[in-house]
Amino acid sequence: MKWGIILKTSAFAVDNIPLIGPGHDIADIICQRIDVNEYDIIIIASTIVSKAEGRIVHTDEIIPTTQAEKIAKKTGAEEAFVQAVLDESTEVIMESPIFLVRHTSGNICINGGVDQSNVEDGLLLLPNDPDESAKKIKEDIFGFTKKRVSVIITDTNGRAFREGQIGIALGAAGIDTHHDWRGSTDLFGHILEVANEAVVDELAGFANCLMGEGNWGTPVVVIRGLELYSDNDGMDAIYRSKDTDIIRKALLAYQQGI
Ligand code: GDP
Ligand code: MN
Ligand code: MN
Repeated sequence: MKWGIILKTSAFAVDNIPLIGPGHDIADIICQRIDVNEYDIIIIASTIVSKAEGRIVHTDEIIPTTQAEKIAKKTGAEEAFVQAVLDESTEVIMESPIFLVRHTSGNICINGGVDQSNVEDGLLLLPNDPDESAKKIKEDIFGFTKKRVSVIITDTNGRAFREGQIGIALGAAGIDTHHDWRGSTDLFGHILEVANEAVVDELAGFANCLMGEGNWGTPVVVIRGLELYSDNDGMDAIYRSKDTDIIRKALLAYQQGI
């Protein structure tokens, strides 16, 4: 399949999304603002999904454990902030100079995605289960419009080796995470052995260009014309297993001073 060939691919940010708060119905808000097309790829900043899910904590409500106190002392971060990150994580990979953890969703990221930007006050946590959130929004959009869409929930993450941050996929529904080229041939008939394109991250990265990071107020982007819809949900396939993730192993060894 060659993408975007029948319909030229286009993308736009959805206008007039309000400030999101607990209980807001994101699927409804989107459907009231655009005519959803079959196979639209709807890309949503995790920030608004978290706000809708009421995922805000206040530091004065958090009681730090001794582990949080120890890390905070080492890094200079606020104890309550460290505790909020630990509460969202299943594994600490590095305490300093970056606080790198595995979020419960599987995503390894700095500070477990706990964020203070674009919230009035308090700490904004990532959605509890971004795949589940994506699936629910996909199903609700179908309920409103009878159109099958793909949904990707994004966050902004840094990368190893490269300066700067990009949008990455955190949760997905109605789309395959990868376009697996392995077994197909290149221009000269060579069999591709490695190429397994992480499509959800590529789309998240592009959509993030239209969202911005600051005050644009554009947390929802639609990509139209790619027709990547699939009945599959979830993005577990994006995360390397602990055994095969050599970067994780190297960072743990560095942290332990090996
Ligand atoms: P993240 O990448 O998921 O952490 O989200 P960002 O904080 O980078 O915000 C992405 C985009 O969403 C930016 O354009 C923000 O201005 C916008 N945004 C964040 N919260 C809201 C909101 O409640 N309403 C609207 N309309 N835009 C928001
Ligand atoms: Mn974020
Ligand atoms: Mn962002």
